[in-house]
Amino acid sequence: MLPAEQYERALEGCRAAAAAGWEILHAGGSALDAVEAAVRVLEDDPAFNAGRGSVLNAAGQVEMDAGIMDGHTGQAGAVTLIKHVRHPITLARYVMAHTPHLILGAEGAEALAPKAGCALVENDFFITPYRLKQYHRKAVSTAGDTVGAVALDAQGHLAAANSTGGVSFKYPGRIGDSPILGAGYMADSHMAAAATGQGEHIIRAGLAFLLRDLIASGFSAPQAASRATTLFLQRVPQGQAGWILLDAQGRVGIAHTTRHLPHAWRTGGEEDFVVGLRATETK
Ligand code: ASP
Repeated sequence: MLPAEQYERALEGCRAAAAAGWEILHAGGSALDAVEAAVRVLEDDPAFNAGRGSVLNAAGQVEMDAGIMDGHTGQAGAVTLIKHVRHPITLARYVMAHTPHLILGAEGAEALAPKAGCALVENDFFITPYRLKQYHRKAVSTAGDTVGAVALDAQGHLAAANSTGGVSFKYPGRIGDSPILGAGYMADSHMAAAATGQGEHIIRAGLAFLLRDLIASGFSAPQAASRATTLFLQRVPQGQAGWILLDAQGRVGIAHTTRHLPHAWRTGGEEDFVVGLRATETK
């Protein structure tokens, strides 16, 4: 979890990301463009465990995963074990749109970066002094601070995206939930969801598919998000996760079994962004 002094920075970061997505939606842009833009902002923000600011693995390196899904077309793309691409989410979108595959990893994925228009940087670029300190303290492996975004556009299309450095002190080569469709993210014509938390728990619970199924059986996003808490904990007792969920009516659901889940959102009916740290259910 985020240390207390970083809460404020996290909330500011969530707001900035929501604003980037909102700008696109407000101008009539697509949900897919909005979630990519929001996640890129968060990947650049060192307050989060994605892009610059990612946690370090056991070898002291950053290895990132990201996934994106267009609920309208049902297409998805993801990348794993990324060490040099500044914006993994944009590479994931390239995999979705320009390859026959859904998940590409490591060098094979990074080789597409120039074609995808993705900047390549040294691994050190991602490593912040805070994460280095955390690494040298040899703290136990922790999850959290992964970033995600969901959006509904004026055409009624939904999209979801997420991006992560994974869990700290992970074995090199470990892959979490974030690039796994149905675990860390999911979008269709009725919902869009993104998750954070302990990837192994989220994959075992099939969390994003669980949220999809709750929406399909008639629950609104707020109802589905909170109902999923019980089901998630039944599937993975003591499981640690948080999730954001949007339905086709634009209703927002947020729930978590972790202590906090910093978030921000805005809908057409709101004058400003709703920004918060702790919520089991909203709107
Ligand atoms: N879900 C991520 C993973 O396990 C970690 C996180 O949410 O911070 O890779």
